Amino acid sequence: MKTVYAYRRWRRASLQEHAALPAHTLDCPECGKRVNVPRLLQGHTANCPRCGHMLVRVEGNPFWAPLAYASASLIVMAFAYTMMYVTVSLAGVTSILTLPEMMRQLIVQDFGFLAEVMFVLTFGSPLLFLLLGIYVYTALVWEKPFPGLLYATRVLVRLRHVIMVDVFFISTLVAYIKLDTVSVVVFGEAFYLMPVLAVLLLRTSVSMPQHWVYYQIHRILGHSAVQTASDNRICCSRCLYFRDESEDDCGVCGVDLYRRRPKSLSLSLAFLIAAFLLYFPANFFPIMISSNPTALEINTILNGIVYMWEDGDRLIAVIIFSASVVVPVAKIAAMLVLIWSAYFSPPLPAAKMTLMYRITESIGRWSMIDIFVIIILMSAFHTHTARVVPGEASVYFCLVVVLTMLSAYFFDPRLIWDKQKSLQTGRQQAGHDADTEQAV
Ligand SMILES: [Zn+2]
Ligand SMILES: [Zn+2]
Repeated sequence: MKTVYAYRRWRRASLQEHAALPAHTLDCPECGKRVNVPRLLQGHTANCPRCGHMLVRVEGNPFWAPLAYASASLIVMAFAYTMMYVTVSLAGVTSILTLPEMMRQLIVQDFGFLAEVMFVLTFGSPLLFLLLGIYVYTALVWEKPFPGLLYATRVLVRLRHVIMVDVFFISTLVAYIKLDTVSVVVFGEAFYLMPVLAVLLLRTSVSMPQHWVYYQIHRILGHSAVQTASDNRICCSRCLYFRDESEDDCGVCGVDLYRRRPKSLSLSLAFLIAAFLLYFPANFFPIMISSNPTALEINTILNGIVYMWEDGDRLIAVIIFSASVVVPVAKIAAMLVLIWSAYFSPPLPAAKMTLMYRITESIGRWSMIDIFVIIILMSAFHTHTARVVPGEASVYFCLVVVLTMLSAYFFDPRLIWDKQKSLQTGRQQAGHDADTEQAV
């Protein structure tokens, strides 16, 4: 027994010791500043001294907390996907909906595409994310190089951007206000578990900072991810480790290796123009067609909002207006200003423009509310007496959301700093700044 305790104590001590990230240099992925990061212990973070971007973080309990959060999320998820989500009664017909039943309804109604969207964003990616998280962190705790560990980590860190359980939950609230006016709605246990799951997923994702995870994976695999900064090495803009410039893909995280994203502005602009053009049919064509024995209602996004406003559903009208009009329009306008800044001259200091980029990048996913509301209404009203089907505009709207996300993805925010610098010094600056500063 004594040896077991001693072994556990030794393991804990050795894990504690390995949790620290050694002092090293990296280039800020948002402004290109070269930063010296000191040795970081548990609970420490390092921010860019120039743009304030959080560069590196070590969790307070970096090995066990993510495992605990991921396991708890998995348990909540198992209940949320098997228990009743919502019951909708209309004209004597009652639909008892679990989340899988909602997806089945979409497939039965021949809207398999929407079923896939819902499956990937609310079930497939969170499930795979949690399983991979548990796999990777079990390997870290046991310090064992499990097979495919590096690839599992690469998929893990990418998946967290695809999880939309939180957006789906808010969409249910919006759909509820609409449902409640025509039918009797009773929420099940799964509905109340959804916000818990959303928060747990967010906490799990935050507790797995990729720079630290890749450091640990490489330590277990027997080589260090940390290399010294030099002119013939490029700091990967995703994992923030220096790699030899001869590499096409980063040897640590597997993404393309570049000093500045090639063709960033033209790609970003091309996706933006496509999104802008498709925004017209998204508003012009009907987004939702609902029918019951007395009325057939064909709604475009805008007249749907006006109808809800006049009907007294002011809150839902405001939410839908924000998600379907304000967010996409603001995002398109913001991307245009950002691209303009990098091409010609930033209208505000580069730090403010970087902040604008961060906000633009993070709000895009909330536009999916509209699509989720249609999915929920479709699965609730699928009888011959009452039916809701998506109109053509829903496809265009989905495309607008994806295209603006791609436009933000291909935009390299460091180009704004390069532009500001070249305007100040009168010459084009490529790569990082010569002066290195300490992280804050
Ligand atoms: Zn920075
Ligand atoms: Zn990388």
